[in-house]
Amino acid sequence: MKPQYTLKITGMHCASCAGIIEKTLKKIEGVESVIVNYASETLSISFDKKPIPTNILSSFTEKLGYSLSDRQTEEKIPSPTNTKHENIEIKEMKSTVISALPLAGISIIAMTWETLAQLNFVAEMPMVWEEFFHHLLPIIATYILFIIGKPYLLGVYRFFRFGSANMDTLIGIGTSVAFIYSFIISAFEDTLQPFLGENHTYYDVTIIVITFVALGKYLEMRSKQKTGDAIKLLLTLQAKTAIVVRNGVEQEIPIEEVVTGDHIIIKPAGKIPVDGTIIEGSSYIDESMITGEPMPVGKHVNDSVIAGTLNTTGSFTLIANKIGPETMLAHIIKMVTDAQNSKAPIQAMADKISSIFVPIILGIAGLTLLTWLTLGTYFLGLSQGLSFGLITFVSILVIACPCALGLATPTAIIVGVGKGAKEGILIKDAATLETLHKAKIVVVDKTGTVTEGKPTVSSINNYSQKEEKEIISIIASLEKKSEHPIAHALISYADNIQAPILPVDKFEIIKGKGLQGTIDTTKYFIGNTTLIKDLGHYFDEKTIEAETKQGKTPVILATQETILAIIMISDTIKPQATKAIKDIHNLGIRVIMLTGDNKNTSTYIASLAGITEVVAEVLPQDKQEHIRRLQENGDIVAMMGDGVNDAPALAQANVGIAMGNGTDVAIESAGITLLHGDISKLIKAIKLSRYTMRGIKQNLFWAFIYNIIGIPLASGLFYPIFGWLLNPIFAGFAMAASSVSVVTNSLRIKSKKL
Ligand code: ADP
Ligand code: MG
Repeated sequence: MKPQYTLKITGMHCASCAGIIEKTLKKIEGVESVIVNYASETLSISFDKKPIPTNILSSFTEKLGYSLSDRQTEEKIPSPTNTKHENIEIKEMKSTVISALPLAGISIIAMTWETLAQLNFVAEMPMVWEEFFHHLLPIIATYILFIIGKPYLLGVYRFFRFGSANMDTLIGIGTSVAFIYSFIISAFEDTLQPFLGENHTYYDVTIIVITFVALGKYLEMRSKQKTGDAIKLLLTLQAKTAIVVRNGVEQEIPIEEVVTGDHIIIKPAGKIPVDGTIIEGSSYIDESMITGEPMPVGKHVNDSVIAGTLNTTGSFTLIANKIGPETMLAHIIKMVTDAQNSKAPIQAMADKISSIFVPIILGIAGLTLLTWLTLGTYFLGLSQGLSFGLITFVSILVIACPCALGLATPTAIIVGVGKGAKEGILIKDAATLETLHKAKIVVVDKTGTVTEGKPTVSSINNYSQKEEKEIISIIASLEKKSEHPIAHALISYADNIQAPILPVDKFEIIKGKGLQGTIDTTKYFIGNTTLIKDLGHYFDEKTIEAETKQGKTPVILATQETILAIIMISDTIKPQATKAIKDIHNLGIRVIMLTGDNKNTSTYIASLAGITEVVAEVLPQDKQEHIRRLQENGDIVAMMGDGVNDAPALAQANVGIAMGNGTDVAIESAGITLLHGDISKLIKAIKLSRYTMRGIKQNLFWAFIYNIIGIPLASGLFYPIFGWLLNPIFAGFAMAASSVSVVTNSLRIKSKKL
């Protein structure tokens, strides 16, 4: 895949702006693909060959009223100041709205008075007042339309100049038509009187609709900002300074100046500035902000600590392993930002509709106007036909604005992904979040997923002439080169009895079975029973049955000629595993254990966890095939594994879920990473996916219903039957309210209990 660049966009006012920007940029030579995200106001772009500088790209969009700027580059951790720009935009919007509200208030008073007087509720407006409003409203309307309504007029300009119509165009045409019509009426009052009779002006429509829409926009911007809270929280976790020891002197330096290998002193209640390993001292560390784990974790020499976490009362020294963009915190921030900017498949439908929506609405509005002018005039006379035609024309354009449709999906995704991050559930993209709730089958790996993945040696059966220590020495030397959890168990056992490590030659991993290597001209093999049988040795499984049935894994050391020793390894099941599996079952999801380990061993561990379906002794490459077979019936399969040797299976599954242990999280390899290796977070992730999708569906439903009811109502379709005609002012109110309610509904996901 070509590298993707993320740029920030300013000047977007409605979701269909996204389509316009995409189209404009795609036309530029050298641009390969563009995806605009309206909710986060960013775009991601890739190029055929060389990247095109942002200012050149921006010169194309600026003509249309949008400017582009570089987001913080990937090499840097974005800082909280990034959001400053957004705040300025919101502040500007706020002062605009505040200036418009009293003016709208005046015209509402005038309008209400007039309406009530017509119904004989109050006395007619005194002549002086009437004259006063008569002259005041055009002035207010002029200010509102040309100052507050500038983005909408720009939309009209874009429509006539470039033929690109969006939601601003609809509002712009609607309000300016009302203005121009009213202006003609008041300017040529006496000339028109004989043809049109006493005719009404619609300055109040222009004033109030624009104010409502601007108010709605402002409220929407404010809530939209809240949807991105999670990222802001993550950004504040980054420490600004660190106390390092250089040349024996303690000094506090800015975080940017820390280099790997620095010794950093952490005082009580201090923030951990980088990913590192403790070299002196010990403490309890609050990692809840990263892993979601509420209890502080005890850490000693050689334990790793994570940047952004908080020391409690102890103090210690660490050596910096990973700094800046390499830290887990930086990875998490990048991943969450990318996920929030990605598009959910369900959005494709909304996008498609928004893109054809605006021209269709313009057509409907025009047709309605024409109908009123002809049929309306025929039945009701020119004066009525004309003013009804105008009212419906304006109302349709205003109410049909598909803002809510554009906000429905991305706002929910932003909130959902952010909430996940707070719980230690890292989601790679919107598509993953969308798919997870449909999972029918969850496949789990044994080691490190259901079990702790920290096995220990439980017994050693030596069949050779060699000393036990020598046997351990051989095994540990070979295992030194392996990453498997079994290897860690054997190496630390060897460490304890101080068995020496010998040089190894011709080392090779035998995938899913074990390994081989030469020490001192003898070729050794270490692995499971399959490996031993492959070597042609006779092996009676019965001899170890008593132990495998208790969940222990056999590790056999052999040469080409004979079996030398059998070591039994045991691993404990995670304390939350049993409850987690039960909860998954309760959601109606099938759970299958898929492992390379011994059949008896796996069956026992599975039974402890409450898993009834076990597929054991599977080679890594066959795990993928198993997943594929489960998918054959069209079932959505989630696979949970440690992300290292399970990578192909994780990729094959509809949703790959990696268990993140410690700092070396294989974040990029899976769709979802559960931090702290906590299996019970899977339920939370599934629930989060359900809530998010429910939120999106509600949003889309309401956004559609609103337009389906709103448009015929606004067109005056019900006028001949019920005498209903929608005042454009209410259309403006409805349109603003629908956008605000969609964003508010998305924000509700935040408070859902997982
Ligand atoms: P799993 O992750 O489900 O245990 P693997 O494919 O990683 O599956 O391993 C399958 C089996 O191969 C292990 O259960 C173990 O018996 C054997 N094995 C793999 N790697 C080693 C190793 N480094 N040392 C000893 N045995 C190993
Ligand atoms: Mg594994």
